[in-house]
Amino acid sequence: PAPETRDLSAELNPAQHAAAAHGDGPLLVIAGAGTGKTRTLIHRVAQLIARGVPPERILLLTFTRRAAQEMLQRVERLVGSVSQRVHGGTFHATAHRLLRRYGQAAGIAQDFTIMDQGDAEDLMQLSRAALGLADQKRRAGDPPTKRFAKKETLQAVYSRHVNTGLELEHILGRDYPHFAERVDDFKRVYADYVDRKAQRNLVDYDDLLLFWAGMLDAPQLGATIAGLYDHVLVDEYQDTNVLQARILRGMTKLHRNLTVVGDDAQSIYSFRGAHFRNILDFPQQFPGTRMVTLEQNYRSTQAILDTSNELIARAEERFSKRLWTERAGGEAPWLVSAKDEGEQTRFVVDRVLELHEEGMPLREMAVLFRAGYLSADLEIELTARNIPYEKWGGLKFLEAAHVKDVLAFLRVLENPRDEVSWYRLLLLLPGVGDVTARAAIDAVAEAGWEASGLSRFTPPPKAREWHGRLATLLAELTRAVRRATPDLGAEIGMIRRMYDALLRERYDNAEPRLADLEQLQTIAAGYADRAAFLSALALEPPSATQDLAGADEPGEDDALVLSTVHSAKGKEWDAVFVIWAADGMFPLARAAGDPDQLEEERRLLYVALTRARHELYVTYPLNAYNSRMGADYSIDQLSRFLDRGVRATMQRVVVGHAAGEPQPAAPPAAAAGLDLRALLRGKFAG
Ligand code: ATP
Ligand code: MG
Repeated sequence: PAPETRDLSAELNPAQHAAAAHGDGPLLVIAGAGTGKTRTLIHRVAQLIARGVPPERILLLTFTRRAAQEMLQRVERLVGSVSQRVHGGTFHATAHRLLRRYGQAAGIAQDFTIMDQGDAEDLMQLSRAALGLADQKRRAGDPPTKRFAKKETLQAVYSRHVNTGLELEHILGRDYPHFAERVDDFKRVYADYVDRKAQRNLVDYDDLLLFWAGMLDAPQLGATIAGLYDHVLVDEYQDTNVLQARILRGMTKLHRNLTVVGDDAQSIYSFRGAHFRNILDFPQQFPGTRMVTLEQNYRSTQAILDTSNELIARAEERFSKRLWTERAGGEAPWLVSAKDEGEQTRFVVDRVLELHEEGMPLREMAVLFRAGYLSADLEIELTARNIPYEKWGGLKFLEAAHVKDVLAFLRVLENPRDEVSWYRLLLLLPGVGDVTARAAIDAVAEAGWEASGLSRFTPPPKAREWHGRLATLLAELTRAVRRATPDLGAEIGMIRRMYDALLRERYDNAEPRLADLEQLQTIAAGYADRAAFLSALALEPPSATQDLAGADEPGEDDALVLSTVHSAKGKEWDAVFVIWAADGMFPLARAAGDPDQLEEERRLLYVALTRARHELYVTYPLNAYNSRMGADYSIDQLSRFLDRGVRATMQRVVVGHAAGEPQPAAPPAAAAGLDLRALLRGKFAG
């Protein structure tokens, strides 16, 4: 039907309709996952337009740009292309637009430049150097505080300070205790940084929100900006912070037409200064608020909701909503105990292929995890088996700089003609620049592309030490390989004896990166030799930065989604796998000592479970002897959140048992006689 003739209210239940059709004044929709908050917001925008509100006087704020685009496309289906005039976007993008237009009146010259995080770090580096805090080399015996914080750390602490309003002392004490003594140096750097930004007419991301709030506080200018919109609507309000609430008060002071939707039980961004108090306090901050709650869930089966409800019912904070659906029944979610990480990976990949074979597009499935690095094993397996995937949130494991560095060592050993890898390796060495690297590669070439050619080259004095170390290492490795049966794990171990030191020099947050390498080493050890491993990785990896705008058209760009839970919020899939549901990983070990953080981890797991429409698998490795956490830390238990009551709503299965152990129950829908590789070749080749 033509958009105008469509009955907009038919697609909403009465409570949703009440919210969508609400007249003027503040409106709060506080409701659980999958109850149609986002859908209601879309309909509300459509109804405002249908009611005669000019689209360009509507502001729709979302958590990502992608979310705004998707929502406005759906508004367009309801009311047609006028919806394109609605202003939709993130808080930051909106701030940017307003600052360009009105910043001059507030002392920000119009041609300011936005700094991304990398730029901000570089400027921090300048400030750090100007104050003489850079390049203090630590000598043996010096206390760790001798070396000052790296630019990345300086930027991260600064941003946290601005966004949370927490004191620097507090942030350092908690996250960077080894710098706690140096709070005055941090302050000096930041004072200098702020001056530099002003002198150069630069604006960083954090400034965007601060300046927006500042403009709204100015009487005249504030009224002008607040006068731009008649209605402001916000999705995912539980993840806003106090600064954003202040901005919303300013934006709606003339008419108070503010609609926010959210779920306090899904508040997961406290590390950016968000707090679920913000949504609970909304009625006090905006007197006269109409509150609508929704309880009927349209996303998931009752079986999935039963598990989710059980989980959140145990939260410290009482979230009163209990979700229900008319879609009774459904298969109880699976709790999968895998023998180890490899078996966990195999289970997920096999099940994904089975579902795909049964007709489910890859795009309708997602694998979710607590932290970006937890998908490393899976990514390698997917790459090796040529299954397309895209990763949301967190860098793809194989694209992380430190992983690529170690792979470069392996590559030059495997193929000394690999100039790109040589170049990468040489530039890692302290004292080696472009010119030296080039000369060294020439020496290798002259030696007939033998790795040993490296030692025939004499670099300038400042590069000599590390150049020598590299030459020795490569010679040792070459010898070791000739002598013994290949042991790739040991090979990477030798490489790491040299590389780990370089890594510690380069990054303040060396620990998670070292953990990645530990992981790489473990995975590599499972391959017959270097060639087998490298060629498994060399299969064309899917693009890291696929545009997700086509998400509505399955078939195009069909790829499995791997996502951190944070990046999965608001989304839904037919089948969801939550991996690494082990204590220490979910919740993360670092949250264990802090009740607030633990509660946030629980909400995060709740967000993960409630993404599933039909099928939900929660997996964990039984004997994940976890190298990431240090040698003495082993994870052998299920996440504490999956206690007896939650487990009672799930079906259990053990996969990959060792011989002699009790026979496990059969995995769901075992694929007897299915040749997965043949299947894959058919699906993805050419
Ligand atoms: P989340 O808390 O995860 O962001 P949400 O409350 O925003 O969830 P939506 O994403 O809006 O929920 O809706 C969940 C699913 O239910 C969507 O597929 C949506 O189209 C569907 N849905 C919502 N309301 C209705 C309804 N009244 N009739 C049919 N389907 C509905
Ligand atoms: Mg939503």
